[in-house]
Amino acid sequence: MTRADRAGAALAAGVAELRRELDVPWPVAVSLGPAGRGLHGWASTGPDGAEVRVSDRAGPRSALATLAHEWAHLLAWADPAATGQPDHGPRWRELHAEARRALGLNR
Ligand SMILES: [Zn+2]
Repeated sequence: MTRADRAGAALAAGVAELRRELDVPWPVAVSLGPAGRGLHGWASTGPDGAEVRVSDRAGPRSALATLAHEWAHLLAWADPAATGQPDHGPRWRELHAEARRALGLNR
């Protein structure tokens, strides 16, 4: 198994866990690929659902950390309590901590 295969497997398992514990109200397409200069990943929503990209330079643990970060954006966009707050504001930080915990990243 290559490093990219391991990152992909970790991501698939992570998405399943987040869907169970901290679901969002959209279908989410998660992919490993180029994320843009200097970026670990990005998230967006559109008419067909949400999309999360994780940099294909990531190893498994880094891919999961990026997934937690981007998933927290999806959670914040769906959460009325985060309305009007900055992208990485107080509610996002709470949701980020929950996503990290769901993925076992706080140990
Ligand atoms: Zn962010």
